[in-house]
Amino acid sequence: MSENFDVKLDGKSYLPDPSVKEDAWIKDYDKVYAESVKDPEAHWGKVAEELDWFKKWDRVREWDHPYAKWFTNAKLNISCNCLDRHIFDGRKNKVALIWVGNDGKEEVITYRQLYREVMRFANGLKSLGVVKGDRVCIYMPLVPEQIIAMLACARIGAVHSVIFGGFGANALRSRIKDAQAKIVITADASLRRGKRLDLKSIVDEAVVNTSSVEKIVVLRRMTPAMELFSEIEVDFYEIMEGVEKECEPEVMDAEDPLFILYTSGTTGPAKGIVHACGGYMVGTYYTTKTMFDLKEGDVMWCTADPGWITGHSYIVYGPLAVGATILISETTPDYPDPGVWWDMIEDFDVTVFYTAPTAIRMFMKLGEEWPEKYNLSSLRILGSVGEPLNPEAFEWYYRVIGKGKCPVLDTWWQTETGMHMITTVAGEPMKPGFAGRPVPGIVADVVDEGGKPVPPGTGGFLVIKEPWPSMMRTVYNKDERYRQYWTTIDNYYAAGDLAVKDEDGYIMILGRSDDVLIVSGHNIGSAEVESALVSHEAVAEAAVIGKPDPLKGDSIKAFVILRMGHKPGDKLKLDLVYHVRMNLGPIAIPSEIEFVESLPKTRSGKIMRRLLKAQELGMDPGDVSTLED
Ligand code: ATP
Ligand code: MG
Repeated sequence: MSENFDVKLDGKSYLPDPSVKEDAWIKDYDKVYAESVKDPEAHWGKVAEELDWFKKWDRVREWDHPYAKWFTNAKLNISCNCLDRHIFDGRKNKVALIWVGNDGKEEVITYRQLYREVMRFANGLKSLGVVKGDRVCIYMPLVPEQIIAMLACARIGAVHSVIFGGFGANALRSRIKDAQAKIVITADASLRRGKRLDLKSIVDEAVVNTSSVEKIVVLRRMTPAMELFSEIEVDFYEIMEGVEKECEPEVMDAEDPLFILYTSGTTGPAKGIVHACGGYMVGTYYTTKTMFDLKEGDVMWCTADPGWITGHSYIVYGPLAVGATILISETTPDYPDPGVWWDMIEDFDVTVFYTAPTAIRMFMKLGEEWPEKYNLSSLRILGSVGEPLNPEAFEWYYRVIGKGKCPVLDTWWQTETGMHMITTVAGEPMKPGFAGRPVPGIVADVVDEGGKPVPPGTGGFLVIKEPWPSMMRTVYNKDERYRQYWTTIDNYYAAGDLAVKDEDGYIMILGRSDDVLIVSGHNIGSAEVESALVSHEAVAEAAVIGKPDPLKGDSIKAFVILRMGHKPGDKLKLDLVYHVRMNLGPIAIPSEIEFVESLPKTRSGKIMRRLLKAQELGMDPGDVSTLED
């Protein structure tokens, strides 16, 4: 990157009601943060003490760059912390999961019920010959059985690899092969927008020539029940019949792998990230409890799918380790109408709501009249994850959904980090466009290529300087790829994102380093230009790319989706260029604007700029297996 990379920072901030802080787990962020980084081992050790272990650790952390061990020689089972602990701690009949299906069906499952089901399914897996260390692929719709399957694997020490139920056969096959999965757990079908989508036939196609797969477990939701091919296929509930009720948890070492999970594949082929039992549990427990500020009566709804890290950490492991009530839903945000999510918030008195900018921008596009039909007063905390939350989207979320009273947590983190890394702790001042400051225990910074911190207002690379408990331990079968993360920028963990800090230490994500635009020697983050475009009243969503230009380096092309009621045209193009110029200055103005109906996105809802660029330049699009249809 060139030297010149100044970012225009707007100093606007929102002060939450003082009562938020009075009641919060973290009352004094500055003090908690300072103590946590002065002695990270004491900080994380104290958190770990709140959880159940068969045997405590010798050391909290052993750091041998780039490899870290956390809670060395400690023994645990994460399922005991998500289930048994609550059974014996007074939450036996508390609701663990509320599920709402696409067809309006509902299920309410208490901690006791979940505990029973997990143990029986774990015994069912054992009866199929699954043992500690085996890889189990879970390819299911968003149903309670998906979570039961994950926890059952954890109980017996099998390493799960959850694959989002929207993927096609090729993506599924490559992941089954990479992990050498012994079992695939699936369902006959998922329901999306009222339509049945066949999953089992995709599995049939995917397992051809995958010699590792011994059994396929099928959840049969539909009537009449589909026939199974008895040589290798078994029914989800039949394997739970006739087994022991109890299933002793496998004693896991803190460093034993808990799961493999593939990244979203936004910037290139997805990476199989490996997380370890002990550190992952401590990191997700801590952030769920303190960042979402969870209290006993909360109902948390994270709209992600367990097939992504957000679902692993903030639907399954974090909230269950805390003992929370979670809502999960197979519904899509606009079916049968764009009020369905707000209706569910009203109906279930959801208090903590966690979603993605892509959903927020969709709701903005559709207009305020939808959320306004519902009573959203139960909401207490709002969260966002996955992409930069543009200031315009922040303000909309804060005002229209949070009614100006809920803290909005823009949480920056990755599949690799396992847990939240940067956000604004509930009760602290919020700055639209900024994710916020590092989570206690996390040392984040913005540096140049050599690892030297850049001054506030100057863009650079986002790095994490110290290991943390829920960091990935390796990339499955590709340890050299793991080492790259820790060796490209000094000895730091290079996140691959661009960022800028302000005078108060708040961090704004500027986009991916792969998507940086270099215009006349100036570096510009894609998110800066996109946020400037989205702040125009006509724009719902925008993506920008750089096109090689002999004079400027890159010239900027913008793809723009308009809000309802706005018409494309040359006049609007000029308005948009002027608007960006007023916001960011003359360097950042797009040379070309194209109005589009949709943008290419990953199945986790992230804009794939590399595809727009490949299309534009007539290049090979590379790996597109994670592209949404
Ligand atoms: P791949 O690594 O395969 O290209 P991916 O990076 O999209 O895919 P994830 O781990 O799902 O895979 O996403 C992490 C990335 O998402 C981050 O590196 C960042 O670019 C983006 N991201 C997540 N949360 C935020 C946020 N709050 N603000 C800005 N960007 C975010
Ligand atoms: Mg990534």
